Amino acid sequence: MPDEREFICVTCPVGCSILAKVEGQELIEIRGQACQRGEAFVREELTAPRRMLTTTVRVRGGKLPLVPVRSSAPVPQGLLFALARALRQVELSAPVGDHQPVMLNALDTGIDIVTSRAVEACEGYEEKPGAGT
Ligand code: SF4
Repeated sequence: MPDEREFICVTCPVGCSILAKVEGQELIEIRGQACQRGEAFVREELTAPRRMLTTTVRVRGGKLPLVPVRSSAPVPQGLLFALARALRQVELSAPVGDHQPVMLNALDTGIDIVTSRAVEACEGYEEKPGAGT
């Protein structure tokens, strides 16, 4: 017998509330989505959910100690914890640019991690040769 489940589509800022009848991983019926991407979202949620990763990484010599970073695309949900743990080992050297690559092809996903803002260097800070990520 199908279950009725509610999903909030996170594909765009509208955030449609979608009601779906599902049986296991099979989508039986769907309503509430304002566009076709909502159905694709629910199908992906049922089989291989993904989420955008947002976190911070440390900055050496910056006016801020941390810089926010994000994934360039949604990451398989099962890899979020491992990726966040890998990013805890990263330390960038100031100055840091906006959209600066932090980790390319993170955990072989084909997804990059980039900064979400710039961080200026503290006055007098100079990166030492060989320092950085
Ligand atoms: S169903 Fe379409 S309009 Fe609604 S949140 Fe998803 S992408 Fe946006």
